[in-house]
Amino acid sequence: MFVVPESEIAGLVSPAQCFEAVEAVFSAMARDEAYNFPVIREAIGHADALYGFKSGFDRAGKVLGLKSGGYWPGNVEKGLTNHQSTVVLFDPDTGRPAALVGGNLLTALRTAAASAVSIRHLARCDSRVLGLLGAGHQSAFQMRAAVAERPFEKVIGWNYHPEMLPRLAETAVELGLPFEAVSLEDLGAQADVIVTISSSVAAQLLDAHVRPGTHLACMGTDTRGKQEIDAAIFARARVFTDEVAQSVEIGEAQHAVAAGLIGAGDIVQIGAVINGTVPGRQSEDDITLFDGTGVGLQDLAVAARAVAAARAKGVAVEVDL
Ligand code: NAD
Repeated sequence: MFVVPESEIAGLVSPAQCFEAVEAVFSAMARDEAYNFPVIREAIGHADALYGFKSGFDRAGKVLGLKSGGYWPGNVEKGLTNHQSTVVLFDPDTGRPAALVGGNLLTALRTAAASAVSIRHLARCDSRVLGLLGAGHQSAFQMRAAVAERPFEKVIGWNYHPEMLPRLAETAVELGLPFEAVSLEDLGAQADVIVTISSSVAAQLLDAHVRPGTHLACMGTDTRGKQEIDAAIFARARVFTDEVAQSVEIGEAQHAVAAGLIGAGDIVQIGAVINGTVPGRQSEDDITLFDGTGVGLQDLAVAARAVAAARAKGVAVEVDL
């Protein structure tokens, strides 16, 4: 098997390659050629850690495996990343382990790629103002991926902890765009595309804040109990997701479904839009909402690209297991 260390990942896959990989696997999921296995996520009763597995099989791309890891809140004090991820790939023809891949940077890249896919397929073409709700680790990756999809002229942002906003300002500078910290009212009033990427547990962006024509990529809610936006927004939006079962269970849609505002049948897999079997945005006034819950197949797709690149560059370490 091949080992691809975390330290090599940045030099192996670009955001554009991650976009291609994630778009392709979303497409395969909608053709029923790729599927995710049930997610395992456990509070292990040690170090306050949440630990689990996301896994699946992409028959179209011949990628089988799992991402293992979770959240260790005490890691920061040890100089380590709180979120820890490792991907293991297996040969789908024999079941033999094929690769062990550092998954921390890949997680950020594949999550940003998912919202970028939603922007490419659902946002208005004349979108000029990008809004961010959230200013944590993932937010910079989200901003970088989003600006590749539309000719944005300005980035605006709001965060629950305002002291974290400099991260958004610095990332906008890096991208050559002006940045403005705004209120939630102004976020909704000005932004054509809003990416939410926080660990909020109550609605921050309210129904009254969101105007017709907006595209929302809700990326922060990946667990039961988290919530970033008012469930009422779902009632007037066209709703898309990576995977309907996850969206209903652990995604932002969990609250709208529980409140009876929408049902699972109202949520469209974005792969169907990519494949052209279901229309995406149908009018300039549609509110389109992508509930990006994060599926294992995204991780496997980008990890497989990283392994191929590492082998081509000669930086994959071969181990006889
Ligand atoms: P982080 O810890 O670096 O940042 C946390 C963010 O949430 C900050 O913006 C912080 O101000 C905000 N926040 C914290 N507590 C809050 C509260 N009570 N109310 C409102 N906002 C609050 O986290 P990160 O790595 O940037 O991840 C952000 C979110 O994205 C997390 O919920 C994480 O689980 C989720 N995530 C989702 C996916 C996916 O595929 N959908 C992938 C990775 C991370």
